[in-house]
Amino acid sequence: MREEKYEFLPTIMNHPVEDRQDRTAENEVFADAPCPCCGYITVPNHGDALAYICPVCLWEVDLFIKSDKEPSDQNHGLTLEQGRKNFERFGAVLSPLRKYCREPRVEEMPR
Ligand SMILES: [Zn+2]
Repeated sequence: MREEKYEFLPTIMNHPVEDRQDRTAENEVFADAPCPCCGYITVPNHGDALAYICPVCLWEVDLFIKSDKEPSDQNHGLTLEQGRKNFERFGAVLSPLRKYCREPRVEEMPR
């Protein structure tokens, strides 16, 4: 009865923690485009991935900026130019975010 009434609600699945961190082909995001900031192939959907956050540099994909010098609202007002410089210097778009980045994988190397 409850299921009929609330069928639009998602079902809560209580997986153990290790399940949630499982990296299988099913739940892995398929990246096929370079991150505009670090250049590693980390962005899915041919780059058309608004608000997707690159796991290597933590740049948030912003499809609204029209140049590398335009401040990005998605990235604390950083420009892509500044983000790239920061990545070169700190390994992240902003130095405090470095601890949340991960190293690029072999398959993410720019082609
Ligand atoms: Zn990146």
